Amino acid sequence: MYGILDPSALPEPNQTDDNEIDNLRGEVDRIDDGILGLLAERRRVALKIAVEKQRVSRPLRDGGREEELLMERLAAADKYQLDPELVSRVWEQILADSLRAQFEFAQHSANGGRDAVTVAIQGVEGSNSHRAALALTAHVENRDFVACSRFGDAIEAVRRERADIAVLPIENTTSGAIAEVYDLLMDARLSIVGETKVLVKHCLLGVRGSSISDLKTVHGHPQAVAQCSNFLAGLSHVDVIYASDTALAARRIAEIDNPTVGAVAGEQTASLYGLEILEAGINNRESNYTRFVAVARRPVDVDSQVPAKTSLVLSVSNEAGALAEVLNAFRAEGISLVKLESRPTVDNPWEEMFYVDFEGNLADDRVQRAIDDVRRHTMYLRVLGSYPSRDLRPHREPRPMTEARVVAVGPASARIPAAEAVAGYRLASRTAQAGDTVVEVAGVAIGGPELVMIAGPCAVESLDQVMRTARAVKESGGKLLRGGCFKPRTSPYSFQGLGYEGLEMLAEAGRVYGLPIVSEVPAPEHVERMAEFTDVLQIGARNMQNFALLTEVGQTNRPVLLKRGMSASIDEYLQAAEYILAGGNQRVILCERGIRTFETSSRNTLDLTAVPVLRRRTHLPVIVDPSHAAGERDLVAPLAMAAAAVGAHGLMVEIHPDPQNALSDGPQALRLEDFDDLMKALAR
Ligand code: PEP
Ligand code: MN
Repeated sequence: MYGILDPSALPEPNQTDDNEIDNLRGEVDRIDDGILGLLAERRRVALKIAVEKQRVSRPLRDGGREEELLMERLAAADKYQLDPELVSRVWEQILADSLRAQFEFAQHSANGGRDAVTVAIQGVEGSNSHRAALALTAHVENRDFVACSRFGDAIEAVRRERADIAVLPIENTTSGAIAEVYDLLMDARLSIVGETKVLVKHCLLGVRGSSISDLKTVHGHPQAVAQCSNFLAGLSHVDVIYASDTALAARRIAEIDNPTVGAVAGEQTASLYGLEILEAGINNRESNYTRFVAVARRPVDVDSQVPAKTSLVLSVSNEAGALAEVLNAFRAEGISLVKLESRPTVDNPWEEMFYVDFEGNLADDRVQRAIDDVRRHTMYLRVLGSYPSRDLRPHREPRPMTEARVVAVGPASARIPAAEAVAGYRLASRTAQAGDTVVEVAGVAIGGPELVMIAGPCAVESLDQVMRTARAVKESGGKLLRGGCFKPRTSPYSFQGLGYEGLEMLAEAGRVYGLPIVSEVPAPEHVERMAEFTDVLQIGARNMQNFALLTEVGQTNRPVLLKRGMSASIDEYLQAAEYILAGGNQRVILCERGIRTFETSSRNTLDLTAVPVLRRRTHLPVIVDPSHAAGERDLVAPLAMAAAAVGAHGLMVEIHPDPQNALSDGPQALRLEDFDDLMKALAR
């Protein structure tokens, strides 16, 4: 025992004097207040040190000094006869607090030290989201809150620039991942810029004068109810009514003002809404933490001295062991993974999306190398951002980081070394990946040894037309069915396509004959809807440099067939592909379809040189469309044969059951029997 070495030295206990106890308690209160005041003062001095360190460019964290300080306090513990265990625990916390304050300061000034922020939260004042938002913006002078009723609304508020950040709960130590928020983050296209953890203590609340035995119904947020399931299971006479957030449950029962109606909510909401705590701390586990993330429209740079975490969302390719390869990529660079969460995808229910959190900063070369390696094993990879980590490891020097990189092209995932930035297509280049990318489309491998045939009409015209064509494709050995539903035509008076009605016909034919479908997406606003039904999204030649469209398909998890623009150089073409890769989507198929030259004897000039050149420069699969190059039926087969000979991974040709009456590109369409002949010739 420390401190009470000689009990006889203590005054005689005086059993009757309540006054004396009150006096002594008052003294304890004064001492505690003094401790708090000193802690606050210590924090202020720590911040001054941070400012000074920044001025003289000294590192914020000094492991030696931390160690020394702790040893000094332990030595002093003896002097004051205090338990060294207590002293070491208290000072570890104090040091962590100072560091956190210093890191917050460094990060705040790294982000321009703005003095006003608008924060969207799901919930009202007093909710845990509100507490998290306060903690995440502690250093900002003017804070405004936008209270939203759903998580999705908070995200919309940021997207529509009504708020700077949204603060959302993402996981809880008792009830686990908050699936809805993960799914929203997948689609939201926002960056994670911060995280915090809030100790959540749930209480059973009632209006004044009520008691637990009076209760018939209890309002609570589903997460809160799950976190208190053991306690609530004991209240067999009570029905649970779900509320959209904890503070709202408290507010509602205050409004209802009925002793039979209670709420599960935080301690702080009781005083806020004038309620009574019927039972405190009813969560299954005492250490019940909820982790919150802050999301914004743009990523932040994390100061290299601040411990950072980075989050990714990815889907792995179908190769065996792809997920293990992803994990190995982090191990190879000595990076600790702190979280791996999987969610099913909506479009492809058999595919999983993985959320990965790891320790590290995007500005760090090790992190960039790991991400490059991960990319090789993914079909989709998006970097959600780096942000200051809440978890500090005691006495550990952050690894030396290379100087912060300032080359940031597009999204954070595209930060690249200057030398390669010049090429403009780092991710598409052979330097990024030596082996060929094989794009899997519903079981068909494009980019491997097999020549893949894609065929179908220029435009979907009727169910009958597309059914007859699909049957011919299948019977002759074609692997994918093409068909335009939106036809961006050179003249506004030409047939513009059947739109979504046509897409339904194409999808139906694809289903009946077991052929994945390819169709052109004409504009960004159609991407989401078309991605629901279409196995491969085609970007037409006229849209190759439609960067808004490229960015949009880059965010989907559908393979993209990117046609070469008719006046685009190979460099421009690969940079267009880079937009899609940098957006996250790794499944890009290139398609040479003829370019504009002085020659007018064919519709375009098929640039067959592009095939071996592309294959040398990029790992992406390359296919050839001889139909649009030729413009005339008789040229299609010889060009197709030549394309196969120069190393194309596949061919896309237009075919039609009745080319004479085709609504578009009839003269270049093969008859169904011509297609069969071509397939036989290619097989030879
Ligand atoms: C097509 O393939 O339907 C098409 C319109 O081709 P391109 O974009 O190459 O002209
Ligand atoms: Mn066409």
